[in-house]
Amino acid sequence: AKNRRLGFAFYTEEMGKTLKEREALEADLRRALDTEGELDVAYQPLISAKDLTVSGVEALVRWNHPRLGSIPPPVFVPIAEECGLIGRLGEYVLREACRTAGPLNLGTIAVNVSPIQFRSADFASRLFAILARAGMAPERLELEITESALLDSSGTSAKALRLLRARGVRIALDDFGTGYSSLSYLIKLEVDRIKLDRSFVQELGTCPRSSSIVRSVIAMAHAVGVSITAEGVEKPEQRDFLVSVDCDTLQGYLFSPPVSALSLIENFSIGFRR
Ligand code: C2E
Ligand code: CA
Ligand code: CA
Ligand code: CA
Repeated sequence: AKNRRLGFAFYTEEMGKTLKEREALEADLRRALDTEGELDVAYQPLISAKDLTVSGVEALVRWNHPRLGSIPPPVFVPIAEECGLIGRLGEYVLREACRTAGPLNLGTIAVNVSPIQFRSADFASRLFAILARAGMAPERLELEITESALLDSSGTSAKALRLLRARGVRIALDDFGTGYSSLSYLIKLEVDRIKLDRSFVQELGTCPRSSSIVRSVIAMAHAVGVSITAEGVEKPEQRDFLVSVDCDTLQGYLFSPPVSALSLIENFSIGFRR
């Protein structure tokens, strides 16, 4: 209780930890999925390291709870996963991102997919239906999944992966470096991109070895034809180093936090596709 004085950030981390709180949030989330306007999607620009222009966006779900205000995804995504709502939540984000960001003059629309959602048998077919409905080319969609989604032994994920990639959908390995697999193993996975976790970027300039590690990961990825995005770029020095070691894409508060689609249009001169 004493720690609560540390403020809202700590409070939100603890949010939903007790059974009662979780049950309340679950019921509220169920309702939010049936209601207009509580859930929303924010878009964080993906910056091409080549010319520092916006090459795409990552869609990130937002929940504006009527009583509690903004609830962070790391609080409610796990609840959705545990109570069987992740399929609906994930589809909401996919549909909304394709409908809203699809018509914009952006290369890539990246969407996070929970391992549980990814493993459901009809994931690929439902995804293709959403793309067709939005009139969006599969080549513009990039699915961000973590290694746990790719490493399931049942073979369902491998099958879905092949099906999606055969149709042009790209796959990004999210939070690279935070899991348990070795780098050499992960780099052999059939992915189009690796998203280097924020923790590596944060250490640049503070931990002497981190720059060598980042440089090597980028070289390894490029050697097998995989692109690299660096997450959590907050400082100009980090940007400059990442550009110097040939990182492909940069993302972080230095360029922009996640914003509304309207703000993308207004602040980054993103227009509509012709
Ligand atoms: P993630 O996929 O690694 O997304 C990046 C997170 O880092 C986002 O937090 C973003 O706002 C934050 N971020 C971006 N740039 C910076 C930076 O420069 N510094 C710092 N400190 N943070 C930065 P967010 O939106 O709170 O999402 C957190 C996590 O929740 C995501 O991590 C992802 O794992 C999950 N998530 C978010 N949206 C979705 C979704 O639609 N579906 C699923 N399945 N998971 C989602
Ligand atoms: Ca992500
Ligand atoms: Ca990530
Ligand atoms: Ca993450």
